[in-house]
Amino acid sequence: MTDTNWIDAAGRVLADTYKRFPVVFESGRGATLTDNQGKQYTDFVAGIAVCNLGHANSGVAAALSHQAERLFHVSNLFYTMPQVELARHLVDRSFADRVFFCNSGAEANEAAIKLARKNFFDRGQHNRWRIVAMDLSFHGRTYATLSATGQKRVREGFEPILEGFDFVDFNDIDALKQGITENTCAVLLEPVQGEGGVVCADPDYLRAVRKLCDETGTILIYDEIQTGIGRTGRLFAYEHYGVEPDIMTLAKALGNGLPIGAMLAREDICRAFTPGSHASTFGGTPVVTAAALEVLRQIERNDILGYTCKTGEYFKTRLQWLKERHDIVEDVRGIGLMLGMRLSVPGAPVVSACLESGYLINCTQEYTLRFIPPLIITREQVDGLIGCLDEILGDAAGGVAK
Ligand SMILES: *Cc1c(COP(=O)(O)O)cnc(C)c1O
Repeated sequence: MTDTNWIDAAGRVLADTYKRFPVVFESGRGATLTDNQGKQYTDFVAGIAVCNLGHANSGVAAALSHQAERLFHVSNLFYTMPQVELARHLVDRSFADRVFFCNSGAEANEAAIKLARKNFFDRGQHNRWRIVAMDLSFHGRTYATLSATGQKRVREGFEPILEGFDFVDFNDIDALKQGITENTCAVLLEPVQGEGGVVCADPDYLRAVRKLCDETGTILIYDEIQTGIGRTGRLFAYEHYGVEPDIMTLAKALGNGLPIGAMLAREDICRAFTPGSHASTFGGTPVVTAAALEVLRQIERNDILGYTCKTGEYFKTRLQWLKERHDIVEDVRGIGLMLGMRLSVPGAPVVSACLESGYLINCTQEYTLRFIPPLIITREQVDGLIGCLDEILGDAAGGVAK
């Protein structure tokens, strides 16, 4: 089949839930992808912050196939070694004491929401089940998580949504003070909002959130599904702030492309989950946990965090260089290799022009270009994109500027 035929076939047989670019990818290596016409692209999307160690990572592939030849699955009625090892690795490197494994980000957040509510139920505080979440947050597409998402567009047409979510402005501590009531069990936030346009929490804000949660006995949940596993130059974004949560959710990059999610919690909080409280058939199977363990080991073995900090800083200075040269660039922000560039014009034409030139980038909140490449991206690859954007932004200022 030709390229067009696959795209036409997809149009006939797939649920039409995604706005897709007309590219059929066939293979990848590192930060490079190849489509079925043989055209190569440099990837600054990484499957939306998923393939942090690059495409077709040979170490992860080896861990995966080694485990696949021994055991795929036995169910959580029994123990398997990779699951325990992965949990131990995560616990040793985070604030958390316990881990619940699942298969996606939304499921990790579902577990967090259930655990938060169960904590207060168990203490007899049956009126404390509301959760304060942030405007422009994104937490997933299941019923609970879309109810927790501060963007109207994900809820439209699906009401009635799950009850009990209140929304306040991100980075506004007074709004949060107003938002937390005697019925609140938890505050849920992303340390750096991803889908919300790459917006970092202010350090003072996050410290104040922690203090407010402590004073009111409210559970603090970080959604680190996008920011976790090295994306920001630390294993978890909260480490930049020195402000720990009570519960944290992970997914995206944990399996470098294999479906795995995790909810981490402190001992005293996790006690509310007892046998029968919560479950997932596929949660933490030997195959995905063996692969995720290799992901975490590679991050340490190859000093991926140090490399991410250095490349991220370089990338950011290059984006700031673009800002100085182009009036339509309003803001450059982000941390590590989670960077955003806000434009005064819609970003979609820029994304398409980049694709045409062999660079994958994406756009959030209509005006913010987002750069979330594999963490192994090189300076030369960054320079390539910057050169491409320099041309495109020049054209865009002539053609699309208001
Ligand atoms: C992607 C994402 C989710 C949802 O993860 P899925 O695996 O798509 O369910 C939740 N929260 C954040 C911050 C995300 O970036």
